[in-house]
Amino acid sequence: MTVDGYRARAERAERIVFFGGAGVSTESGIPDFRSVDGLYSQKYDVPPETVLSAEYFYAHTDKFFRFYFDKMICTDAKPNAAHKKLAEWEKQGKLSAIVTQNIDGLHQAAGSEKVFELHGSVHRNTCTLCGKAFALDDMLKQKPNIPRCDCGGVIKPNVVLYGESLPYAAVNGALDAIANADMLIVGGTSLTVYPAASFVKYYKGARENLIVINLTEISGFENQLIGKIGELL
Ligand code: NAD
Repeated sequence: MTVDGYRARAERAERIVFFGGAGVSTESGIPDFRSVDGLYSQKYDVPPETVLSAEYFYAHTDKFFRFYFDKMICTDAKPNAAHKKLAEWEKQGKLSAIVTQNIDGLHQAAGSEKVFELHGSVHRNTCTLCGKAFALDDMLKQKPNIPRCDCGGVIKPNVVLYGESLPYAAVNGALDAIANADMLIVGGTSLTVYPAASFVKYYKGARENLIVINLTEISGFENQLIGKIGELL
């Protein structure tokens, strides 16, 4: 199908759900994990999958935060054309939800309100001892040290680390939105991080309205637009 064909379908849709990943934010300057320029192509003594695990967080908290502050936080990043288009669709009443694996908060910065963050957000942080909540700025003030609460507890970002389960409310909301969608656009994700990747299976709408937008082809999908998501959306 041509881009115009996809556009016509999107214009007719009334309950679009967008399911996205790190590729949505690369045009904002935040590297993804699995592209050629992604974090997994760079050389580290300890692989990013290990550093970003719950086990590593508790065993090597200082090294975790060194990586986290250096590689996962991009304070200069601004929403790009993809974030903005999705926010526009929500305001027009065409898009019922965004389900994202991203933790950068850029959809909300673009004006989107119905966002299910499957992997949490760098903007929410909690003391592991007393439960007090902290903003990202509070964390950055303590950089490069381990961020600590007044009570002495380590402050942990509310991001889902490998080995942790997904937040219940976000999962419920995401599955409900996907199951009721009349179009599901899967964009900027390699669909390799589980269980999030399996959520696409809950889509029950027309097959031709299940559309993948990615820089590279994702196996198992009929309708794919290959290219930059900011341009294609
Ligand atoms: P991934 O790195 O595994 O895959 C990204 C995909 O996006 C790749 O297939 C790549 O080809 C594609 N892509 C990159 N730039 C693109 C563009 N401009 N247009 C279209 N496609 C583009 O990312 P993932 O599937 O989201 O899984 C990685 C995990 O890493 C997720 O859990 C996510 O939370 C986390 N992560 C988040 C951020 C962020 O919040 N911005 C950044 C890095 C990693």
